Amino acid sequence: MENIPRIFEQMPDAVAGVAERLRQAGYAVWLVGGAVRDHVLGVPPADWDFSTNAPTQDILTILSPPYRVVTFGLRHGTAHVVTPDGMVEITSWALNGHGGIDKDLERRDLTINALAVSYPDGTLLDPFGGLKDLKARRLRGVVNPLERFREDPLRPLRAARLVSRYGFQVSRKTRAAMRDAAPWLRHVAVERIRDEFWKLLLGPHVMEGLDLCRRSGLMAVFLPELLEGWRKKQNSYHRYDIYRHTLLCVHHSPAQLRVRLAALLHDIGKPRVRAKVGGTYRFYGHEKQSALMARDILERWLTSKKLTDDVVLLVENHMVHDTDAWKDAAVRRLIRRVGLPLVDDLLELMRADRLAHGVPSEALNGVERLRARIRRILDEKPALSPKALAINGRDVMQVTGTPQGPEVGHILNQAFQLVLRDPAKNDRDFLLKWLEEKAMGVTS
Ligand code: ATP
Ligand code: MG
Repeated sequence: MENIPRIFEQMPDAVAGVAERLRQAGYAVWLVGGAVRDHVLGVPPADWDFSTNAPTQDILTILSPPYRVVTFGLRHGTAHVVTPDGMVEITSWALNGHGGIDKDLERRDLTINALAVSYPDGTLLDPFGGLKDLKARRLRGVVNPLERFREDPLRPLRAARLVSRYGFQVSRKTRAAMRDAAPWLRHVAVERIRDEFWKLLLGPHVMEGLDLCRRSGLMAVFLPELLEGWRKKQNSYHRYDIYRHTLLCVHHSPAQLRVRLAALLHDIGKPRVRAKVGGTYRFYGHEKQSALMARDILERWLTSKKLTDDVVLLVENHMVHDTDAWKDAAVRRLIRRVGLPLVDDLLELMRADRLAHGVPSEALNGVERLRARIRRILDEKPALSPKALAINGRDVMQVTGTPQGPEVGHILNQAFQLVLRDPAKNDRDFLLKWLEEKAMGVTS
């Protein structure tokens, strides 16, 4: 039996404190899950999961402040503990019924997730050959994969998520079980699917992860729209079909959820608007269609309104072209339209999209020129909303005699359009004079 006590040296103090308190209360404590996996792979562990024989009531009293037990996932007997060094998950066998650490590991999904290290001596428990699989970079279901997937149909998606994170191969038997189990994913709560899928989206091997979802049939359950682009040819600007282009676009975008979701959905409407015009495929209005479908899909996944709106806005605006020919005013309008916080994501999305065309093109330089231009324009600190004008609603009412009401906002917006075209006009004297002239025009 191997021994890896050094894993505990990496544990943050507050996390070690959790293990220590349980041990001092006389309970067995095992480190399980991603931390063991990452340690063996030589990656610094991101989060810490424990397994213990302490009953949940005792966990509640043992983990007094600064610890805070927030929820018990009763179904899995899991406590989530907030510590000054992040969240810790504790699985209690007591709540899980009978058995010990062996039984606990048997209930886990994949062999590489069914490793445990006892605290504090570091004895490694590996009943299903997880260590060998980790070294062979292979995913295998515990004992009978199909049986495990039937118990919890989220597990195949978790496997795809780990493919995306580590680039591992899935063993043949487990792959076959994934295909058989995929339709059961329909019975899993959409929030669980979404959370796993979002982790999948952020992995460095995201193309492999996504394609495994397609091949196994998982994608047909939670994102059938993407399959519509499979083998749908495009035109001379594109080397790949719509589906493959989309995967590449995700791959080339930075590993942040908002921009990766936008990359995933940026062309989602393309198959539905594809039309042959003069012997070549055209996709007129595909960004509008994609934006509509993106909203639908994100709402179906119960995504927050803010994230949904942001992603839809990025999708809607991804077809910005030939900006070299634009006036500065048009660039300012673009910044105003997508909003300052989304500008960088839009540029990243455009860049990833161009890279994913797979044909050499000047367009990539165009994105960089636009980036530089936006930076220069922002350095000039232009007014990007009516709030940033040198006049306000009170000025409008005083100078023009307009009563309080929507007309005031209307006039402010006119002034704002003026300033968007020419930032030099955001000058209090100039705008007050403009208001006076406007008032005279109205009264005379
Ligand atoms: P991460 O590094 O992303 O946290 P993880 O493997 O630790 O990856 P968690 O969701 O934190 O993922 O789960 C911790 C452990 O709990 C897993 O490694 C696995 O052993 C077990 N587990 C979690 N969810 C399931 C599940 N649905 N079915 C079986 N075992 C699960
Ligand atoms: Mg974990």
